[in-house]
Amino acid sequence: DAWPYPKAPLVPLAETVHERLSVEIFRGCTRGCRFCQAGMITRPVRERSITTVADMIDTGLCKTGYQEIGLLSLSSADHSEIAEMAKALADRYEGDQTSLSLPSTRVDAFNIDLANELSRNGRRSGLTFAPEGGSERMRTVINKQVTEEDLIRTVSTAYGAGWRQVKLYFMCGLPTETDDDVLQIAALAREVIRAGREAAGTKDIRCTISIGGFIPKPHTPFQWAAQLDHETTDARLHKLKDAIRADKQFGKAIGMRYHDGKPGIIEGLLSRGDRRVGKVIYQAWLDGARFDGWSEHFSYDLWMNAAEVALADETVDVAWYTTRERQKTEVFPWDHIDSGLDSEWLWEDWQAAIAEENVGDCRWTPCSDCGVCDQLGTDIQVGPTGVTELPMPMMRPSVVN
Ligand code: SF4
Repeated sequence: DAWPYPKAPLVPLAETVHERLSVEIFRGCTRGCRFCQAGMITRPVRERSITTVADMIDTGLCKTGYQEIGLLSLSSADHSEIAEMAKALADRYEGDQTSLSLPSTRVDAFNIDLANELSRNGRRSGLTFAPEGGSERMRTVINKQVTEEDLIRTVSTAYGAGWRQVKLYFMCGLPTETDDDVLQIAALAREVIRAGREAAGTKDIRCTISIGGFIPKPHTPFQWAAQLDHETTDARLHKLKDAIRADKQFGKAIGMRYHDGKPGIIEGLLSRGDRRVGKVIYQAWLDGARFDGWSEHFSYDLWMNAAEVALADETVDVAWYTTRERQKTEVFPWDHIDSGLDSEWLWEDWQAAIAEENVGDCRWTPCSDCGVCDQLGTDIQVGPTGVTELPMPMMRPSVVN
């Protein structure tokens, strides 16, 4: 519950994208999504109390002048006292032109209650959920324990409560994925619109599906996985696009956003690269690569040529780093960095993924022995803490002046 943050956060002189006070309400996530590096390397879950969060917000608003607060964490709706926290804060700042936001992509009705609470005074525009995998099978492989029924029930509640836009995040290229797994995204989106129209009593609703390419990350169970080549990624996404377009009844209400597969291969090269990839980056820079995160500046050919030049004397190439599945015995370039996770546990979780088995969240099910608590000498710290009193509000600069 400690608060070692700077008590007076710096406020940039230039306008930034997220002009708000970010307050971390807990750290770590043990839901166990197998693709998620952030969740894996920040275990276990350690929550802050309502009192400390409220103190951080009040002090932060006074010192910065921000009018927006973001309650951040890897899955903010999972805080054990989030409902009480959201209500207390919404009450305190009601009519104060201070808005609260809670980035959460959890797929359940509780999330909608929270969104309703936080948007009490505002517009109900869009809600985002992240099923990540199109088929039930795929979601088991990635350990995202969300059923189609959960999703449909949740979006129906959202549309019924007045929300008009739902955005769904998915990934393409996940381990063991087939064309059919991705095509099921279209079927799911179709069902979302059908159920949504029924719940909202209007045809005026939309669902946007946003698809990112899967990149295997170090320190996750998928660090051994082969990345999908860009040709197959593109072919799969085009099939999905065609399936949505062909849907005369619901297709017009479904939007689709995605990137083609080539940038993902370069991301994959950087994600699991070793020291030799440093030479590739340098060569790409010499060849003029700048601001590659912007698609208008990105050149796949430039990077591939740079890799060919820089790796000319090596026995490896881009495919070796990206589309190759690793063996259990392979020594990784990041093995000397200790995230507290037991590598045997990571391997077993990778095998469980291939066998399509789920592993529970250790907040609510028995410890699965990932090794973190023992190795880092820590423990799960979840509430209720009993520390729920909101501290007295400080005098705002606007009030003082
Ligand atoms: S050691 Fe057990 S309780 Fe601790 S984070 Fe890992 S699975 Fe959870």
